[in-house]
Parts: sequence; structure tokens; C-alpha cells
Amino acid sequence: ATPTSIMVGTGRAAELGVLFRKGEALQSLSGATTIALDKTGTLTRGRPELTDFIVSQGFAEPEVLALVAAIEAKSEHPIAAAIVAAAEERRLALPALERFEAVPGFGVTAKVAGHAVAVGADRLMARQELDLSAFTQAAERLAREGKSPLYVAIDGKAAALLAVSDPIKETTPAAIAALHALGLKVAMITGDNRKTAEAVAARLKIDRVVAEVLPEGKIEAVKSLRENGGRIAFVGDGINDAPALAEADIGLAIGTGTDVAIESADVVLMSGDLRAVADAIGLSKATLRNIK
Ligand code: ADP
Ligand code: MG
Repeated sequence: ATPTSIMVGTGRAAELGVLFRKGEALQSLSGATTIALDKTGTLTRGRPELTDFIVSQGFAEPEVLALVAAIEAKSEHPIAAAIVAAAEERRLALPALERFEAVPGFGVTAKVAGHAVAVGADRLMARQELDLSAFTQAAERLAREGKSPLYVAIDGKAAALLAVSDPIKETTPAAIAALHALGLKVAMITGDNRKTAEAVAARLKIDRVVAEVLPEGKIEAVKSLRENGGRIAFVGDGINDAPALAEADIGLAIGTGTDVAIESADVVLMSGDLRAVADAIGLSKATLRNIK
């Protein structure tokens, strides 16, 4: 590899909004065979909205929303912002809260206005041995629509089923088509519900889905993709993507994402537009061709 062609390559990449943190990164990117992407904030905008709210008999929606928003006001998850915004829109007063606990990859719990309240994925409710059967059908329908179902437990009872929806970025379908045109396999890695992830993946023609991944499981997810052979590039934006960015053969972080992700990456994308990934791969291949 001549230093000059690498310099020219990284310079052209910078014009496309792609920063190679090391010269070797240009070379390793050209050898990637599977591009794995985080879902929330990478394929999607990362700003979900509360779209559905179904309460069990004996529970009233405004009261449940107020309890849930009181907890989510303490959480930094994008889902939390969606729920708090919905409560603010309705000008609900948020009750006082004690013993807040965030369970990464599961959800949040607290004592609110004297009630034990939990909000999160079905696996959070499974830990409390809550019966969710009344909501199974509705949750499956919501997931098929690409929405993420969430459950609310109040004092050990299934009180509500909510759904949040995070729109796919406008540029994502073209970005995936461009990766396919380069002959690459495209995979999604997400902590979200399997059916939701599969619905989103089907819309985007994504080849492989690794879903319901716990925060500490993203490394294993990258390894499982590598078992099919080939070299994995991983694209992510969040704190929880840092281990996968480091584990992948090449890690690409979105520059508008968290600092931890950027520090763990070999390549930084200056904008959230994923079309830059295919541009960068095309450029790295062209540079390597000149070298050989
Ligand atoms: P991802 O961001 O890929 O969905 P996470 O590990 O952050 O992955 O979260 C996994 C799942 O845990 C979420 O899809 C959601 O169901 C649940 N969850 C996590 N944090 C919260 C929260 N603050 N409120 C409600 N649900 C949550
Ligand atoms: Mg993300």
C-alpha cells in the first residue's frame, strides 16, 4: 500500500463526509463482506413517537400515562422521551417518584404515588412473572406494523400495552440498495422485539436480523454473523454500540451519535445519512485497486 494513494483516498473520503481515523481502515473497509447496522438511531431516526395506548379493564389511560411518564422522565432512553412528550402534550401532572431503577435492555421500574410501576419489554414482565396473555394478539399486530410494543405493570397487574414507532430515515432504503449493489450482505442488530425488527428488516430488504440482543450481547451478535465466514463492518451510534464497534473487523460510528461510539470506531460518518457507507466502501475498493 503506498502512503500516497491512502492519503488521496482518505482525503476524497473526507469530502464525502467519511473520516478514516487510521490509514489501515481504508484497507479493512474494502474487505468487508457483511455490513451490520444497529436499528435505533442508525437505520431509524432515533426519535420514536408514542402511537398506541391500550389499557386493561379497571385502568384509565390518563392515570397510567402519568405514572409511566413520571418514571420515564428519569430515563435517558429514546423511548422515554416519546412517552414524556405524550404526557406533556396532554398537560398531565407527573406524580412524585421513589426508588427509580433502569434495567438496561429491559425497561424501568419505580414506586410512583404509592404504586409499584414497571415499564418495558415483555422480558421485563417475564422477570416479574406477569401474565401478558390478554395483550398477546394486539402486541403481535403492532409489531407486524414495525412498532415496538411495551408493557406497563402496576402493582403486579398488566395495566397497559403501549407502542412506540421510530420512523426509518428517508435515505436508508437507498443506502441498503447501494450496499446490495456492491454485492454485500446487510444485517441488523437490535435490542428491540424480534417481530418488530423482522417487520422493519422486511421493509428494508435486510438479509439477516439479530434481535432482542441485550446491551452486553452485541459482541456475540457480531461474532455470530462472522460464523458464516467473511468480514463484518458494524455501523452504530449509541453507547451500547461501542463494544460491537470495537469487535467488528471495522467499526463505523455516526458522528452525531455518542462520544463513546465515536471513540470505539475506525471510521466516523459526519452525518446520519447511511448512503455514505456504500460511498466509502466504493472509494476504499477503488483506492486499493490503484495500490495493487
Ligand atoms: P434498542 O435501543 O436497540 O431497542 P435497548 O437495549 O436500549 O436496545 O432496549 C431494549 C428494549 O428494552 C427496548 O426495545 C424496550 O423494549 C426496553 N427498554 C429499555 N429501556 C426502556 C425504557 N426507558 N422504557 C421502556 N422500555 C425500555
Ligand atoms: Mg442506536
